[in-house]
Amino acid sequence: MIYFILTVYSLVLASFLHVVGMNYPLRKPFLRRISSECDYCGEKLLTIHLLPVVSFILLKGRTGCCNQSMSWSYFIVEILAPIFVCILYKVYGLENSFYLYIFIFSLLLILYVSDIFYLHIPNLILFLYFISCASYYGYVDFTLLLQHTYQLILGIIVFIGIYLFVRKGFGFGDIKLLILLCFFFEF
Ligand SMILES: [Zn+2]
Repeated sequence: MIYFILTVYSLVLASFLHVVGMNYPLRKPFLRRISSECDYCGEKLLTIHLLPVVSFILLKGRTGCCNQSMSWSYFIVEILAPIFVCILYKVYGLENSFYLYIFIFSLLLILYVSDIFYLHIPNLILFLYFISCASYYGYVDFTLLLQHTYQLILGIIVFIGIYLFVRKGFGFGDIKLLILLCFFFEF
């Protein structure tokens, strides 16, 4: 039963995060929008077309309104997210690590979408995740926040160094993300 609940929640979460990743870099409003719209023609989507995975299969990967081919990334994300969340639950139960990894996973999902569609890593999203995580660490234990701040400083030195000296293959978006991950994880 718990796996069923986790699957449903992670499907809803993953498709919401996909929408964030698709819309935020274009500064399209998405939070206050009650109904969802087609990415191509802007027509309101029917409820049946909003079901994750199911609608993709029913419509054979095309939009119901204007028959454009839908991006496979919806399907891939919606299949992989529940698998990943269930594995996390199997390994960690409902310990703190479970929530931390879901938190990091949600960030990576948004960035994956905005990166493959627009080659863009939005600073505000990174900042919001940083502030949320820093507040959580500070709330739990101030020394924990300090320890993660040291890691952040170390991350800045190492990855800015790599960026300046190695350069090849790294965009600055990658560097920002790697530095932030130094802050999130245990040393
Ligand atoms: Zn359409």
